[in-house]
Amino acid sequence: MSPFLFFLMHFDYVFIGAGLSNLSLLHQMSSYDFFKDKTIAIIEPSDKDQNDRTWCLWSKLPPRYTSVSTSWNSLVFKSSSFHKEQNISPYKYYHVASKDFYEETIGEISRYLKPRWFKHSLKSVKFSAIKASLTLDNDEIISAGFVFNSSFKFSGNNINSEGLKQHFYGFKIKTADKDLPVDAVHLMDFSLNTDQSVVQFGYILPFNAKEALIEYTEFSDQLRSKDEYKVLVTDYLRQLGIHEFEVKETEFGAIPMSDNPFKDRLNDLFINVGSAGGLTKPTTGYTFQYIQKDCQNVIKALLSGAKIPVRSSQKRFKFYDRLLLRIIKKEPQLVQTIMEKLFSRNKFKSVLKFLDEESSLLEEIRIFMSIPWKPFLKSLFRA
Ligand SMILES: Cc1cc2nc3c(=O)[nH]c(=O)nc-3n(C[C@H](O)[C@H](O)[C@H](O)COP(=O)(O)OP(=O)(O)OC[C@H]3O[C@@H](n4cnc5c(N)ncnc54)[C@H](O)[C@@H]3O)c2cc1C
Repeated sequence: MSPFLFFLMHFDYVFIGAGLSNLSLLHQMSSYDFFKDKTIAIIEPSDKDQNDRTWCLWSKLPPRYTSVSTSWNSLVFKSSSFHKEQNISPYKYYHVASKDFYEETIGEISRYLKPRWFKHSLKSVKFSAIKASLTLDNDEIISAGFVFNSSFKFSGNNINSEGLKQHFYGFKIKTADKDLPVDAVHLMDFSLNTDQSVVQFGYILPFNAKEALIEYTEFSDQLRSKDEYKVLVTDYLRQLGIHEFEVKETEFGAIPMSDNPFKDRLNDLFINVGSAGGLTKPTTGYTFQYIQKDCQNVIKALLSGAKIPVRSSQKRFKFYDRLLLRIIKKEPQLVQTIMEKLFSRNKFKSVLKFLDEESSLLEEIRIFMSIPWKPFLKSLFRA
């Protein structure tokens, strides 16, 4: 095809990246007749057939995806001196393997919206008053009325790769050793915390009595080598009494923990979505549910022909995140005690509501009264 013909390819909506955020948005769009006669393109270089993420979320209602199949009613918080397991009703904690999610959503989207797929990366973007021109890495050019972008590179947001991050490494294991605690997810297990200069905790997602995802998580600036992570996970398994196991899969992730303000768009035609749009909560890394809520706001605006509303997290939650991030960075040895008080003195469901940024000011005051306040006060006056 000649470059001239490439330029003629115009789409109502172009999606850069087919990850969690854009597939969630497209999947929600596929339930509305409004979008069925729209022209849609998806630019994504990879096949999206790998199990590259183990997504977890909590929700009062079952998620809309049938691939979100496993759920738990209880969570555990643990440290060397303390252990608490609690039912989180009205919430449930859900798990979805990204491979299943990709398969389900791509199937539905292809059936109902019939998008054109470009198996390429976006190389550059230019704007006129009414459209965006997108050049792909094979020099094809397509134009779009609206762009939903999940690539950091084009978001106008810079993530400091040297800065604080949540990094984790885990084994999905099968063991013949002792039975695993299948009833509850271990959200934070500080009993493995040996290095006071960083925040370290374990995470256990038990699928059945013999299979689980066991992860080592750290909050710090420096990533470790794969070998170091492997030793840390193996030590944690030994501490749990699991010596004989087969590693079925591994998972590694590094999520920036930055309180820098995020641009939610380059302009009204080019909207950043997902992590590239600032939808990852910096203190926890959880993103899944923020993305689902954001999709509803975007779709509402598209259906009514209104401008896509500026995404704004409530200022006070940003403030709380900033204070905690400063403590994690400057006084990591205090984090275990703060978390211990948070989970021992509050109902887990109240903590989850707070982390969802859906608590009231009164509920937040109660939470802050329950945890050591001096580090937060100190953090307030820290530059
Ligand atoms: C290992 C891991 C586990 C996680 N677990 C959880 C969890 O349990 N719960 C939770 O809430 N959050 C979790 N997160 C955080 C977050 O939910 C995920 O990172 C999620 O995938 C973010 O969705 P996204 O659409 O923003 O980005 P992605 O899912 O990464 O999608 C971005 C897509 O854009 C494509 N792309 C990039 N550049 C270009 C380009 N130039 N042109 C075209 N395409 C491009 C990529 O190939 C990719 O497919 C996890 C993150 C990681 C890394």
